[in-house]
Amino acid sequence: MKFKLDIKANAIDSFNEALSKYEQGQNGDLKAFKFSIAHLAHSIELVLKMYLQTLEENLVFSKCFKEVLKRSKADGTDLLSAYKALEGEEYDFGQLIHGHTSLHTVTVEQALSIVKCEVCGITGNNFVDQDFIDDINWMKDLRNAIEHFEFEFTAKEVRLCIGRLVRGLAEFTDIFSLFDLDREVGEDRVHIFKVLADEYEHALSEANISVSEQKHLLFAGVRPKHQMFIDWNVYTCPSCGNDTMIPNEDSSSGYRCTLEGCENEESEDIEVDCDICGASWPNGEMTSWEDTYTYVCPRCENPEAW
Ligand SMILES: [Zn+2]
Ligand SMILES: [Zn+2]
Repeated sequence: MKFKLDIKANAIDSFNEALSKYEQGQNGDLKAFKFSIAHLAHSIELVLKMYLQTLEENLVFSKCFKEVLKRSKADGTDLLSAYKALEGEEYDFGQLIHGHTSLHTVTVEQALSIVKCEVCGITGNNFVDQDFIDDINWMKDLRNAIEHFEFEFTAKEVRLCIGRLVRGLAEFTDIFSLFDLDREVGEDRVHIFKVLADEYEHALSEANISVSEQKHLLFAGVRPKHQMFIDWNVYTCPSCGNDTMIPNEDSSSGYRCTLEGCENEESEDIEVDCDICGASWPNGEMTSWEDTYTYVCPRCENPEAW
């Protein structure tokens, strides 16, 4: 019982640490992402162990896991079915570890190999999303890459994956009634958690980051005096309603919304030059003259009114 409580408390501590480091990373300290990944990886590892304990308290110990593995090989079944078979025979896992003082617990791979059975719906349910498993594997690789090699992933990739893992973890802890993740998040970190846990909020925060990054790129190295000549506008996207439409070379209108899944290119607010006088106006206010001009501004259209 003691071990059970320790796992949960540690999982939550690590999760909160991961959020703090994530915030530091987002505030420009890119190295902090590395620690965020390490804490999140630790938290997920513990949550996977908590899952094993919902099946059988002692299944977190390698000795007991190996017994299940043995059965799975003998029966030619997957691990979860093998465990269920042993459970059905009231197999005593406790006797395997009885009297042992220093016990190894299962590795992430081992825990994951049982969790995976919940994906294929062996239990008749399709509890776990394959994407969550894939992201955990990606995270494992990333953690190893960070520890042993160079940090070769972009900050954006890391942020997106952390977001998916946080959402996957929230769902996982909920489905198996392990704990209520949003209640366990420290008050000073709730704002980060909310953004990460909500797919749309997270995409929007990424879209806003793209806007400021591209603006920064464009203005970097240009003298303040000359910055006023840079043609840079941010428009409100009429499709998603966010202030995320910025210049884009590949867009036919010259602008594209940076929100993933929206990427709208049209807005009546985008300014174009009048074919007659050359002044810039929002294209929605322009008129076309048949066979002559595509864009005619209100002044040239109706000079008397001005
Ligand atoms: Zn949009
Ligand atoms: Zn004009």
